[in-house]
Amino acid sequence: MSAAPANFYDHTRAELLALASRWGFPPVHAARLWSYVYLEGIEDWAAMSDLPARFRAKAEGELAFGRHATAAETHSSDGFTRKYLLELTDGRRIETVLMRYTGRVTACISSQAGCAMGCVFCATGQMGFVRHLTPGEIVAQAMHVDAVLRTTAVPDEATAPALADATHASPHARHERLRNIVLMGMGEPLHNYDAVMKAIDILRDPTGLALGAKKITLSTVGVVPGILRLAAEQRPFHLAVSLHGATQAERAALVPVAKKWPLDELMDACRHYIAKQQRRIFYEWTLIEGKNDTPESAHAVGRLLHGQLAQVNLIPLNPTAGYDGAPTGRDAAKKFQAILADYGLPSTIRQRRGIDIAAGCGQLAIGA
Ligand code: SAH
Ligand code: SF4
Repeated sequence: MSAAPANFYDHTRAELLALASRWGFPPVHAARLWSYVYLEGIEDWAAMSDLPARFRAKAEGELAFGRHATAAETHSSDGFTRKYLLELTDGRRIETVLMRYTGRVTACISSQAGCAMGCVFCATGQMGFVRHLTPGEIVAQAMHVDAVLRTTAVPDEATAPALADATHASPHARHERLRNIVLMGMGEPLHNYDAVMKAIDILRDPTGLALGAKKITLSTVGVVPGILRLAAEQRPFHLAVSLHGATQAERAALVPVAKKWPLDELMDACRHYIAKQQRRIFYEWTLIEGKNDTPESAHAVGRLLHGQLAQVNLIPLNPTAGYDGAPTGRDAAKKFQAILADYGLPSTIRQRRGIDIAAGCGQLAIGA
């Protein structure tokens, strides 16, 4: 009886070594296979000439590289953002975004197809939940972006004039590896906790992609048990928490799961996380004109977070089909920021990127 091959990308390095030993091969071959894939970007069995033919044949029968087919690819008009519509093996689709800021490339990765949390202003929430992604389906998104970086020069703001036309690999182009990941694509990562943690472990493996913990940010809508678990397990990456409202009523109107995990419980969990981890939390605040962008709202945020090791990321609302609100303008956003500063709260206003291709925060949806 032959089962369908397992996804290579579902395996940690230790699991791959264990698998090889079950097949009767020494760990050295599995370790070489791992480095072919993660260090050299090779998925062609025939090209893995360091591996003995018998091992290759066995591995090829048992494992498949579950990379996603690209159903569509769009580039923002400024060239700094690329959105990939990727197809899963069951035909479901997800989105992964490559963002090029000055000096660094960040992959925005999905953790689920759709999302069950129903935030009113989010296109993924508007489409509803489809399914959880497996660890390998999460890892393969990072590998997709890494492969893009190996083969094309993605223009950087600083070097854009020189590289703007570099659609093909050029000997002068600066090719690089993926270094930064944000789990801010489709889905709620803490609703798919085990798969997401395993994927992060794989991505951090020092003999593989070797992403630094400080280069990974996980964003949650505020799943309290998940935040407590991150603290208990001392997970070393950055945590962002989507706040959007500074009172229970205001927050619950935008983020329905606030009814399940009320603001005071969320704040207790966040304070516990900060104390246990000795690390700041990034709070995300989508700025919606006339709704949560008034000076009163800013003071409420200030009072709520005052004294916490925290930073606020202000995100002017991006348009979505299912929500009417408008983004806060630059001046009002600056004023909001100044009030937060009076409470000792550092903040940033997120650059609006990729809006023309609906690759901005909260704009990822399939079939919307
Ligand atoms: N599910 C996670 C991560 C994905 S969303 C979470 O909610 O945190 C990443 C960020 O984009 C969240 O802070 C989310 O609230 C925000 N966001 C969602 N829709 C948005 C929109 N239309 N405009 C701006 N930000 C949005
Ligand atoms: Fe889900 Fe996050 Fe969108 Fe809310 S904002 S619906 S949690 S993806």
